[in-house]
Amino acid sequence: MKTAESIQEIREQVNNLKSKGKKVAFVPTMGALHDGHLSLIRMAHKHADAIVVSIYVNPEQFAPHEDFGTYPRTIEADLKLCKEENVDVVFMPDTETMYGSGKKYFSIDIEELNVHLDGGSRPGYFQGIALVVNKLFNIVNPDIAVFGQKDYQQFRIIEQMVKEFNHPVELLMAPIGRAEDGLALSSRNAYLSQEERALAPSLYRALTYVAQQIENGVMEPALLISHQQEELEAKGFENDYLSVYSLDTLQPVDKLSTENKYVLAIAAYLGKTRLIDNLILEI
Ligand code: AMP
Repeated sequence: MKTAESIQEIREQVNNLKSKGKKVAFVPTMGALHDGHLSLIRMAHKHADAIVVSIYVNPEQFAPHEDFGTYPRTIEADLKLCKEENVDVVFMPDTETMYGSGKKYFSIDIEELNVHLDGGSRPGYFQGIALVVNKLFNIVNPDIAVFGQKDYQQFRIIEQMVKEFNHPVELLMAPIGRAEDGLALSSRNAYLSQEERALAPSLYRALTYVAQQIENGVMEPALLISHQQEELEAKGFENDYLSVYSLDTLQPVDKLSTENKYVLAIAAYLGKTRLIDNLILEI
């Protein structure tokens, strides 16, 4: 396995792989790798001949009050896991490499797709993600890129960005990797105390309960949802959102129809830890 820290190095490595006729898949991450990330790498192997993983905690997607400083950084363990998963190249740039130091004149605006869900709660978050993914696609130049359904809004925004900016990359979405008790795997789960960790799967249980009711025919789930939110609050969660959104436009929907496709998404704080999860509804 090779590592690359500079743009020139990663471009040479990818050109080298492509010159051998290899199809290159890219898995961007912020490190602190867990089985969810590894499932993305495994999916990438099924669709490509060579895998590039990036590990970069992108400061542009953190608001000043958020956890950029304390975000888990476990580079040695990450490299070991990547090696075990037969990753070809790990790209690990620093912020000077990614952003340089000069004044910036450009940014990416996003319409509508980032108004709700995490975009509504975390202003600037998806602009930061769109910027770094746009740059990473230009730097790495992969044939395929794999993202997780865990961050469905991120996937949808990048899908639209690829379409509108004509990035020559095919996107794949990997299912959500979960712990045995249902909790969606996340690097931020490391913040949870033992007590919080025991409580955390309630989020997934609330989500699956609402999804089942909808799939059984409840087409106006507002009341059902507010009951679940009350129960979560009583257990100690601080709710952010729990709602049904159009899979395509990410606008909230009160009355569902069998004609359309939806995602049921949740975000809540447990202590200081923000947890998110979602299910794509089958109705
Ligand atoms: P992150 O390191 O959190 O920025 O995540 C990097 C990629 O891994 C993103 O495409 C995430 O959606 C994906 N990912 C994170 N957690 C999971 C999970 N539990 N299951 C599937 N994909 C995940």
